[in-house]
Amino acid sequence: MGTAVAQLSEVQSFDTLALHAGAVADPTTGALLTPIYQTTTYRQEAVGKDKGFTYSRSANPTVSALERRLAALEGADYCTCYATGLAATTALCLALLRAGDTVVVSQAVYGGTVRLFNQVLAPFGVTAEFVDTSDEHALRKAVTKKAARFVFIESPANPTLQLTDIELAATIAHEAGALLVVDNTLLTPALQRPLELHADVVLHSTTKFIEGHNATVGGALITSDAELHERFSFTRNATGAIQSPFPAWLTLQGVKTVGLRMAQHSDNALRIACFLEAHPRVTKLLYPGLDSFPQFELARRQQTAGGALIAFEVEGGVEAGIRLMNNVQLCALAENLGSAETLITHPASMTHADVPAAQRQAAGITDGLVRLSVGLEDPIDIIRDLSQALAQTKGAA
Ligand code: PLP
Repeated sequence: MGTAVAQLSEVQSFDTLALHAGAVADPTTGALLTPIYQTTTYRQEAVGKDKGFTYSRSANPTVSALERRLAALEGADYCTCYATGLAATTALCLALLRAGDTVVVSQAVYGGTVRLFNQVLAPFGVTAEFVDTSDEHALRKAVTKKAARFVFIESPANPTLQLTDIELAATIAHEAGALLVVDNTLLTPALQRPLELHADVVLHSTTKFIEGHNATVGGALITSDAELHERFSFTRNATGAIQSPFPAWLTLQGVKTVGLRMAQHSDNALRIACFLEAHPRVTKLLYPGLDSFPQFELARRQQTAGGALIAFEVEGGVEAGIRLMNNVQLCALAENLGSAETLITHPASMTHADVPAAQRQAAGITDGLVRLSVGLEDPIDIIRDLSQALAQTKGAA
């Protein structure tokens, strides 16, 4: 096996780390890219003597290279990668929770996270309290009510873009003896670094902006706490949720440009948000990079840009939203977010369909809400497409 290249302890720049951190040089060929170690098994030199790898359900060199890089980008010591983002959330819960435990979860989170807590973990005796984690009082009350094991937040939240003050949430959680876990999928460490704001664990669906090209599914748990990392590694091996080498390798390539992409996504999204905000058919628009955003000051404090996601409503409610989405041509009507291509989604019927209607309403996910994940196309082309599709919504009930 090759050795880790570039002693990067001196290197602090995010874009340099995105290219080089964790890479493995191949000493026999000089190949610049970390190879895809497509192997299950590793020959051992003697009983009890191996080179750090024994079986690819426990660890694989390509996956380990990605783990070193993601840890470096979040400013952390450790990372474990998983088959999907939800596999990472599942691993987090299996590692930390026992029957009878309570967790506090942001009211507005990815629908699959809600489904996991409500429909998979609840029968095992785990209670998830969904609260508005942007409300300091509500958060404090929920965390202390029943000694929560951890607080799980998404900021910005998918799809309402509501922010939670990460530093404050960390203080509240720690005072109550709980951990703070932040799903940083929507911004990536290029725009927000929750561990620097005292979170204990960062979770990623690397499926989204980290890999960035709609080519893989994957997840990650990142921490600087050695004991937590040990538990995550043990649980991953015990349950078999590790990522495969090929998607890990594709993610190693995609993440090289995450800094550049997130900057461009944010510039494009800001231009498109300005266009939508001024459009007569748009009744509500939420974008953390605009000063009209209700939590703009918090966004400026804990994010370095607005990100790629915009949420908006069109006059004419659900019917108008459906017409808009059925008439876009360049934007793709799709379940995903976070890719180079612009994607448009109707959360109430797509990504958040499994969230009970009352919980959706409480979280601000109205039936007419449209989520736009702005890609890397020329924003003029996206504006043209949205403009013609918005024109088709006239007369919707
Ligand atoms: N977290 C967020 C914020 C998401 O948007 C998603 C998926 O959309 C996930 C986690 C789950 O990730 P995956 O689809 O990779 O399982």
